[in-house]
Amino acid sequence: MTELERKQERTPVPKEWTYAPAPEARDVVSLRERYGHFVGGEWIDPAESYTTISPADEEPLAEVGQATPEEVAAAVTAARDAFENGWSEISPAERAKYLFRIARILQERSREFAVLESLNGGKPIKESRDVDLPLAAAHFFYYAGWADKLEYAFPNRRPRPLGVAGQIIPWNFPLLMLAWKIAPALAAGNTVVLKPAETTPLSALLFCDVVRQAEIPAGVVNIVTGDGRTGVEIVKAEDVDKIAFTGSTEVGKAIQRELAGSGKKLTLELGGKAANIIFDDAALDQAVEGIVNGIYFNQGHVCCAGSRLLVQESIYEPVVEKLKRRLTTLRVGDPLDKNTDVGAINSKQQLEKIQELVSSGEEEGAEIYQPPCRLPEKGYWFAPTVFTNVAQSYRIAQEEIFGPVLSILTFRTPEEAVEKANNTPYGLSAGVWTEKGSRILWMAERLRAGVVWANTYNRFDPSSPFGGYKESGFGREGGRHGLEPYLQFDGSETFGG
Ligand code: NDP
Repeated sequence: MTELERKQERTPVPKEWTYAPAPEARDVVSLRERYGHFVGGEWIDPAESYTTISPADEEPLAEVGQATPEEVAAAVTAARDAFENGWSEISPAERAKYLFRIARILQERSREFAVLESLNGGKPIKESRDVDLPLAAAHFFYYAGWADKLEYAFPNRRPRPLGVAGQIIPWNFPLLMLAWKIAPALAAGNTVVLKPAETTPLSALLFCDVVRQAEIPAGVVNIVTGDGRTGVEIVKAEDVDKIAFTGSTEVGKAIQRELAGSGKKLTLELGGKAANIIFDDAALDQAVEGIVNGIYFNQGHVCCAGSRLLVQESIYEPVVEKLKRRLTTLRVGDPLDKNTDVGAINSKQQLEKIQELVSSGEEEGAEIYQPPCRLPEKGYWFAPTVFTNVAQSYRIAQEEIFGPVLSILTFRTPEEAVEKANNTPYGLSAGVWTEKGSRILWMAERLRAGVVWANTYNRFDPSSPFGGYKESGFGREGGRHGLEPYLQFDGSETFGG
């Protein structure tokens, strides 16, 4: 027996690891009982309201407004006034100053925002703290830098702002999607009316505090809350010059139909069913981490989630075995616990959708695996799930589940991988894992996806454009490309992405 073996015998490795609770303090957030709409720099009392809850335990958090057509119209008028009477005239460097201020305040108040985001949306605090907040601040920093350089971003094209932008965002990254929308719009000289999702309005409402703290002129940023009916009013509003929408393909199509022929600009960032492709020469342990990050990050509520895993046939067994083993170490539970990897499902409605699609997978003949884990009794929860034995025609391989559910398929050759990856109505993102640089480039050229990650997954940067092909939408957000939909150019058409 070696010295090491003797030592191990004296102090055996524990068979079971348990983590002591490590809750993030909640008192950094002070919620009001009731919120109105933020219009023209003031809070207006809503005519109608509803209760927003915490999806982790169904605890009511606050009453928020359900904006009526009149309230949306007031927000659009405030945005128009602010555009005509000051904001479009001020010097670009001055606009940049405001955006820099927002970025700094978000950094200063990041803990408060992160806790609120996890409380209202159900995502793990380590993700809201380490991903959502730093990226939201980075977006404002990045676009602050462009505000006084538009002439250089688009040389010889004389860029000018559009006017009022109507912005409708989903519930999966509430503050980050707000930053993706508001930062480029303001940098380009527009004013905005934004609607957060019905289930996650609180971080957008706290952002109104930041707008005031940064002394942004009244009416430049207006926030109205409510469900899809409020979204419809923003889309229909005559005095809105551009609509930016992130959400489901179904609603995106309805908006496109509504705006056809109106002359309004439109960008749509819709669903996805991304392929994460693992070749047999990939570093398998890293690839397994990439698979986990690709589909279980933010409970799989990610439009670019790597929800279809394509594994080269020769490494199918070791990959599945490593993945299942890794899944047993994921901690599912309280979003405010710093050890939590997978938090709560955002809403009852979304949980039911996941359950329905998972049942269809089992009925169609796929084999399900879920690691043993105890889910909290209250709230909305779904265990991390893997499906093997999946055929391309199954609904779980075709439809966006938007939950922690992975479907595994196999391929033999790079050509087959490309064919299977592209066999979807969507085209938002893809991942390629291989040691060969030439193969990465070969694959990236052929994958019909707006973003292709190589040997990594779900990496975001404000300087990198993001957006889709086919039913994943059109137009780009992020980077210099993300400014273009908020600008008009001399002699250019105004419709389209
Ligand atoms: P929606 O597309 O309905 O929601 C996105 C945003 O649009 C929300 O603010 C929503 O309000 C608003 N909205 C709803 N209907 C309309 C309308 N007719 N006109 C204008 N705005 C509208 O997504 P859901 O939340 O219903 O989720 C359904 C599915 O969509 C998910 O299961 C998922 O598959 C997919 N999804 C994809 C996202 C992505 O980023 N690609 C993001 C969110 C969902 P309200 O909050 O009241 O619904």
